[in-house]
Amino acid sequence: MNDDDPPPPTMSGVAVTLAPPSDTCLPRGIVLKGIPGSPGVVVGLALVVGDTRTAYGRRHVPSAQIEAEVERLHRAVEDAKRNLREVSARIPAGPLETNAILDAYLMMVGDPMLLERVVRKIRDEKKCAEWAVAQASDEIAKLFAPADSNERDAYIAERGHDIEFVCDRLLRELTGDMKQIVPRLDQPVVIIGRDLSPADTAGMVREPVIAFITEIGTRTSHTAIMARALEIPAVVGVADALSLVRTGDTLIVDGLRGEVVVNPNAATIEEARSRGAKHLAFARGLLTARNQPCVTRDGEPVSLKANVELPAEAILALDHGAEGIGLYRTEFIYIDRRTMPTEDEQYELYRAVVEAVAPRPVTLRTFDIGGDKFASSFQLPAEMNPALGLRAVRLALSRPDVFLVQLRAMVRASVHGDLRIMVPMVASVQELREVRRLLGRAMSEVDNAGHGRAKHIPLGMMIEVPSAVVMADVLAREAEFFSIGTNDLIQYTLAIDRGNRSLAHLASAFHPAILRMIRQVTRAAAAHAVPVALCGAMASDPLAAVLLVGLGLRELSMEAAAIPEIKEAIRRVATADCERAAEAALSLDTAEAVEELIAGTFAPALFDLLTGSEDGSYAEEPVTSPDALRTLPEP
Ligand code: PEP
Ligand code: MG
Repeated sequence: MNDDDPPPPTMSGVAVTLAPPSDTCLPRGIVLKGIPGSPGVVVGLALVVGDTRTAYGRRHVPSAQIEAEVERLHRAVEDAKRNLREVSARIPAGPLETNAILDAYLMMVGDPMLLERVVRKIRDEKKCAEWAVAQASDEIAKLFAPADSNERDAYIAERGHDIEFVCDRLLRELTGDMKQIVPRLDQPVVIIGRDLSPADTAGMVREPVIAFITEIGTRTSHTAIMARALEIPAVVGVADALSLVRTGDTLIVDGLRGEVVVNPNAATIEEARSRGAKHLAFARGLLTARNQPCVTRDGEPVSLKANVELPAEAILALDHGAEGIGLYRTEFIYIDRRTMPTEDEQYELYRAVVEAVAPRPVTLRTFDIGGDKFASSFQLPAEMNPALGLRAVRLALSRPDVFLVQLRAMVRASVHGDLRIMVPMVASVQELREVRRLLGRAMSEVDNAGHGRAKHIPLGMMIEVPSAVVMADVLAREAEFFSIGTNDLIQYTLAIDRGNRSLAHLASAFHPAILRMIRQVTRAAAAHAVPVALCGAMASDPLAAVLLVGLGLRELSMEAAAIPEIKEAIRRVATADCERAAEAALSLDTAEAVEELIAGTFAPALFDLLTGSEDGSYAEEPVTSPDALRTLPEP
């Protein structure tokens, strides 16, 4: 080993670069601020994964292995070329442009400008091939994108995308033998990426994952939602996490404060461990009461259901006292794969969930892809405004072939329990009618194929677009149930990207506009006797949950982990108090005033639930009185 090599690894397997202790062990360690994504406090080793579409492990390469790394790059280039040729050969009758594009990609993969840049990074900077490819991709893409976006020439910008696409192909080839190149830490890891879904990392990490950190995102982004479902802490929206944290660094991930401490000293680690243990004890205490009925102090029942993504979570949901599945996000079935899931494959997944939960109900939501939920199997075109683009029901109706496969699978699973189907992002009644028509067709096809099914399958819709709120009375004549999706309703009503960290403080569920919309929906639903639930992240905040009871909701769906806490909150309040507070809140003019009112009314009763421990030791500053709750991190 040469003198200039990175320090030797202390972990088994492939070499990883460790942070030199001298420059990072500040009194507490480097403290990075983010947004609390999922509660809990853990200490673990960082595993940094790439920030491009394909996740990869970042590592430095010892000098002796540099030429082998360059060789690995060349092999990946050849494999990528072969793959592109194979794709090209499979579409002989395809449109001319398709082959021309593939030919262009083929040339780009072997482009000396790209490869020389990558090789330089491997040789001079000792970066692994994946890291070098990703950096070169960013640099070249920047050359194609002038700083002033007004000057941006669409053709030139497209070439930048082409380079990114080609580099992604290279990354895929390189990460194909993932097991050899992801650092082995042989102990639980904290995964850090620009934006991650746990599914992204599942295939590449062998170690147990104990926490997630992302550079972008907010409490309602999918990393946070999944982490809460998996009951591991997450801090999201940590600016610069990727440049400040390296694989092998020791981290404290504080999902209650929304804080990450890099290379903390021993005292800080000990303090974090003790707070983590306290929180765990508190959460376990709540769990023991999970089978108590969910009724307010004056006996009003409120049904708590779970939002799930993976079939395995259905069991977790029951363990936490869920009365059913209020939202099964089926889009996860389409993610991280190149081909569409088949009808049989989907049927088995839905059946597993329905059977696990029976006789309780399961609401399967048809795929909500697009926006911040990408799925490689759909090959969606790039859009200026993906959240306002071809997403959810719009995408489904534009691909009836794919949509019918999903509907048939759902229809077949209905024979195994109480299954309902819910449509995301409905913005007009025609969309619901069109889905109903396709559902009718799917039922006939299932009948014709000789499969069993429930006689009637309720078809409901999400209310998460302002037009659906305004038209709720009309939609209530055709939808069999509503579920209010506040994550998107807030995004579309307040015009705030749900993943935008710097605007997250403005995207408040307590905004009077949101409260008025919820009230409008609960009233329209009541007038037409349509059941209405709420399944956005708002439901998993204790203060918001009691406010929702006051606004007329009697069914809330949330990540399973939040159910015990919300049940406890509801059991401590009286409906009349919730209604009075909601009425007063509706007359206020700002989100801050609403939050202050609700905290002032209910914080004394919910003190421990809001602070995450009996003694409030999780607040940023020690909490000494309920008034101090306003200094708590945003829920
Ligand atoms: C919502 O928008 O509130 C919702 C529950 O759906 P998702 O978070 O999956 O978009
Ligand atoms: Mg939504």
